[in-house]
Amino acid sequence: MAKQGNWLLKALEPDVRSRFTPRLRQVQLVRGELLLSPGETVSKVFFPEGALIGLISATAAGDTVQTAMVGWDGALGVFEACGTRQSAFMAEVQVEGAAWAMAATDYRLMYAASETLRTAVHKYVEILLTEARQFVACNALHSVEARLSRSVLEALDRSRDGRILPATQEVLAQMLGVQRTTVTAAIAQLQAVGAVRSTRGVLEVVDEAALEAAACCCRETLREARAEIYAADDEACDD
Ligand SMILES: [Zn+2]
Repeated sequence: MAKQGNWLLKALEPDVRSRFTPRLRQVQLVRGELLLSPGETVSKVFFPEGALIGLISATAAGDTVQTAMVGWDGALGVFEACGTRQSAFMAEVQVEGAAWAMAATDYRLMYAASETLRTAVHKYVEILLTEARQFVACNALHSVEARLSRSVLEALDRSRDGRILPATQEVLAQMLGVQRTTVTAAIAQLQAVGAVRSTRGVLEVVDEAALEAAACCCRETLREARAEIYAADDEACDD
């Protein structure tokens, strides 16, 4: 899929798009910006184009771990705005970039008006559930180095720059749910084989093939699963 525009917005029929485009506001999301907190009412939904948003869950003890990433192929708040209207997680910008923002009240109207948007949102639910199941298996079965490689490649897939991930080692540790020292050791291993270069707050992919070789098979499993879901969506849209 082309990394241009936002996949869900592109699903809109032309007449719906022209009606709702004036209600979309382009915003530049800043790294570290908190877009949602647990228990907060979802007043806006976000459709990233270049920004990458991490969904973070917390334990009662206050430990946090990232449980999903939202990029150009998804949106933030699109389920909750039509359901409980409350967020159960924290949403923080991990990679700065552009996004479209819309008031939740306008989004509900747009959702009601566009069958293809509803279909795309349902497909997006399937993608997130598929990812969540795979990540449970991945966390239980695969090494930190393999999971880090897979996570970095998936983050880059979802952001505009396919080579540089502006993420600190703290953020990478939160992505994987491990200690920072564990991430430091995994990065050192990847640097030793020439796959990445880590400087202050930035991870640069030097050799993508080497990073792909280090990544666990979940990357390919998820790539195939997403492709099947996207293709099914395209067929539905062609009806
Ligand atoms: Zn895995």
